[in-house]
Amino acid sequence: MKSNRSTTENTNDGAGTAQARVACYTGPAPLKEVMFEQLDYLVAHNSGSCPNGCPECARLEHIKFWLLEPFRMVPASVR
Ligand SMILES: [Zn+2]
Repeated sequence: MKSNRSTTENTNDGAGTAQARVACYTGPAPLKEVMFEQLDYLVAHNSGSCPNGCPECARLEHIKFWLLEPFRMVPASVR
C-alpha cells in the first residue's frame, strides 16, 4: 500500500497554525459586515421609488436619525 498524504500535509503545516490564529480575530468582523449590509440594503430605499408608507423606508429614516444624531448636536464648548 502506498501513501503520499504526508507530503501534502507537510506543505500546509505553517499555514494551518496561522489560520487558527487569524480565526481568533474574526469576531468583530461579522458585526461590521452585517451593519454595512443592512445599511446598503436600506439606503437603496432612498431612491424614492418605494410606495408610500414603505416600512423599510421608515427604518432608513430611523437609522439616519440615530446615525446623524452626533452631527446635529452643537458642542457646548463652541460657544
Ligand atoms: Zn422603501
